[in-house]
Amino acid sequence: MDYEAVADLGPDRRRALFERTAGVESVRSTVRDIVERVREEGDVALRQYASEFDDVELGNVDVTDEAERAYEDLDDETREAIEDAAANVREFHEAQVPEDWRREFSAGRELGRRFRPIERVGVYAPGGTAAYPSSVLMGVIPAKVAGVEQVAVATPPAEELNPVTLAAMHVAGADRVYASGGAQAVAALAYGTETVDRVQKIVGPGNKFVTAAKAEVRGDVDIDFLAGPSELLVVADETADPGYVAADVLAQAEHDPESSVVVVTDDEATADAVCAEVEARIEDRERAETIRAALDNDASGVFVARSMSEGVLFAEEYAAEHLSIQADNDEELLDRIDSAGSVFLGPYAPVAAGDYATGTNHVLPTNGKAKVAGGLSVDTFLRSTTVQRLDEDALGDLRETVTTLADAEGLDAHAASVDARFEDDS
Ligand code: NAD
Repeated sequence: MDYEAVADLGPDRRRALFERTAGVESVRSTVRDIVERVREEGDVALRQYASEFDDVELGNVDVTDEAERAYEDLDDETREAIEDAAANVREFHEAQVPEDWRREFSAGRELGRRFRPIERVGVYAPGGTAAYPSSVLMGVIPAKVAGVEQVAVATPPAEELNPVTLAAMHVAGADRVYASGGAQAVAALAYGTETVDRVQKIVGPGNKFVTAAKAEVRGDVDIDFLAGPSELLVVADETADPGYVAADVLAQAEHDPESSVVVVTDDEATADAVCAEVEARIEDRERAETIRAALDNDASGVFVARSMSEGVLFAEEYAAEHLSIQADNDEELLDRIDSAGSVFLGPYAPVAAGDYATGTNHVLPTNGKAKVAGGLSVDTFLRSTTVQRLDEDALGDLRETVTTLADAEGLDAHAASVDARFEDDS
């Protein structure tokens, strides 16, 4: 692979890099048809799509019973790894739980907020070309920490479901498990079928079909955000270890041919060394073909900026799902970048550590949506309600403000509802 200069990027390349919506857009109409059919035909459609897209003759759609069995049959080492990762994810998310609060903002005017969990949530756990037990933990644990009563997980069917994914569902505390994948699973969670209970919110990552389906059902059901094929942007200076940077690039690129991986540096020698390290390591990877396809994306590449300031602007405009800063002054650079799903600082924070086990959430916005949204968190599963109590004097203090504005809006019943409280006095 060759590096390019940021200064030489033409408008098409910039659009591909900074908008990154081509993949999802290309399947919107296919996905619309799938969603419509699941709405009309329910389980029959789920079975047909399982056969068509997953090559599986689906028996039961509800496979909840299999999760506990898989957990019990798991070898000790894998079970311990899942439990360690789950404990870290739980601990980090428990630290996010907000407290209800009330405060007197002025005499007799008490205001506050309280937080309550959503009741029924669906978590999509991807599982097409790789198994994602880690995504099960990342989706289900925050929901359970928030207090969601019914957490259903949908994951693509297989002749034999991945036992580690199933065991992760048991560890995380999923209430229902459905063997259904892709756009059809999202549609089933959104509208319900004979077997699948309709949920109020769908969360979780997936490929372009899953992501397009979430965009399609949004409006009829709440969703977290669009969490499509994975992305990494590494900001590196001359102190970065090119081998570490290349290893992180390959790790992110192995998710999906549609993944986007970018390195931006102000040092040409580093860019050159990263390209060489990528080439040197790629063939040793089991998913070399997927990695090559991801590296060939128009939204991937190694770029040399004329200065770190140009590199920072590039990173800010890219708004990556994962941002890794491997540079001497990493904290200072971080201060200058506001848009990123999750940030990895320093040479010993590879993205893979956060993908599995640091405790932060790996379900993160892609396609530049980090400009407007953060990743999955306890907040994703809570709704907030504001509360107010006024005493008579406090309402008296607000009376004129309210009645003047109500009159200005031509809503005299509003004004009258306040005046009514003072009729005996005036
Ligand atoms: P997946 O579960 O997302 O998708 C598999 C499903 O896609 C199949 O069950 C099938 O129904 C459907 N499908 C496949 N080909 C189809 C076709 N031609 N037409 C209609 N439907 C089709 O699993 P995956 O494919 O392995 O992808 C996982 C994705 O999740 C990757 O892109 C990965 O990068 C992403 N991911 C993202 C995050 C994040 O937070 N953004 C985190 C983890 C994983």
